[in-house]
Amino acid sequence: MALIVQKFGGTSVGTVERIEQVAEKVKRFREAGDDIVVVVSAMSGETNRLIDLAKQIMPQPNPRELDVMVSTGEQVTIGMLAMALIKRGVPAVSYTGGQVRILTDSAFNKARILSIDDQRIRTDLKEGRVVVVAGFQGVDDQGNITTLGRGGSDTTGVALAAALKADECQIYTDVDGVYTTDPRVVPHARRLEKITFEEMLEMASLGSKVLQIRSVEFAGKYNVPLRVLHSFKEGPGTLITLDDEESMEQPIISGIAFNRDEAKLTIRGVPDTPGVAFKILGPISAANIEVDMIVQNVSNDNTTDFTFTVHRNDYQNALDVLKQTADAMSAREASGDTKIAKVSIVGVGMRSHAGVASRMFEALAKESINIQMISTSEIKVSVVIEEKYLELAVRALHTAFELDAPARVSE
Ligand code: ADP
Ligand code: ASP
Ligand code: MG
Repeated sequence: MALIVQKFGGTSVGTVERIEQVAEKVKRFREAGDDIVVVVSAMSGETNRLIDLAKQIMPQPNPRELDVMVSTGEQVTIGMLAMALIKRGVPAVSYTGGQVRILTDSAFNKARILSIDDQRIRTDLKEGRVVVVAGFQGVDDQGNITTLGRGGSDTTGVALAAALKADECQIYTDVDGVYTTDPRVVPHARRLEKITFEEMLEMASLGSKVLQIRSVEFAGKYNVPLRVLHSFKEGPGTLITLDDEESMEQPIISGIAFNRDEAKLTIRGVPDTPGVAFKILGPISAANIEVDMIVQNVSNDNTTDFTFTVHRNDYQNALDVLKQTADAMSAREASGDTKIAKVSIVGVGMRSHAGVASRMFEALAKESINIQMISTSEIKVSVVIEEKYLELAVRALHTAFELDAPARVSE
């Protein structure tokens, strides 16, 4: 008998009918003899609706009170699913994050899980109940409700699986696995049989929202067997594995990630003296703004240009800070651009292959797409381009790295 944690995302519990379908599915697993803990998201659109309501009261919502509001989305779906199970004769009980003591720090809206008390859940399982837990939420040591950041129900699922030492954590969603890239952008993207934690971590952090990055970190750290599956279609899904030792030949790249969440800022004509990067980025970090990519040009006439990217939500703030820095340093100008996108190729296979970056640049050049910034690590290459070329770039790279699914021949 196995212990399985199953997480169902927003679209999978988006209507009453779908919740009934999820209940049917959970019932089948239960009847096969497994112990089941189910984690659910809010109904699709609900978290956005609640954030929107908050913003109508306060454009920059109070973080603590926002968590009080947005955590209600999941409280509705746990009750509905538990009832749908009980109605089917399957003993079930629902809990909020606070009730099973998913203890987090106090970073409202982006809290981190510190510990989970598994006793209550274990007792219920022993007594034959399916346990339904609200995703995305916890409680801090003062008893305040916290939430784990957008997409955080994935992390609740994986953290529960780790705490309970579950045999598998199954993430059910509206696609049948992890694809070479977002199948909504590249229709001939391919489902991956498996992907390493390391690659999935890069994909998630570079913009593939199929799994929240923290859920992948957790799964890697506690070695939780993790699988992404379609909620309502049968299939093997994608297994996230520790290592890909079984396959002899690594593909050079496993996937392409992208995001439109960043903005670019540039300061030109900065006197090039030691400490210039610190003088520019110090005030940005003091304003609590995270910086992603950074490029400093070679200096010319003892002045240099410096460009970096931040999250789009932080753009206006960052630009205000940078303008003050430009004045203080007698730089020529500070400017910014929000219409950019970041495209990244990811794969552990690129470690052993030279020339991967140039192949990427060649594919983009063929489409006349200008590269504005580049950053690389052992297993990824990222470029910043104009946002309007994003889809073209992703498709071109998908073809250039031979990721396209073979064309289907109809009978
Ligand atoms: P859920 O509500 O179930 O948590 P999400 O919307 O958070 O679902 O995540 C699933 C979505 O992730 C898919 O519908 C798909 O558009 C998107 N996605 C982005 N990149 C990928 C990828 N590489 N493979 C699969 N899906 C991806
Ligand atoms: N409901 C939350 C969100 O939309 C958490 C989740 O679905 O994972 O971000
Ligand atoms: Mg999600």
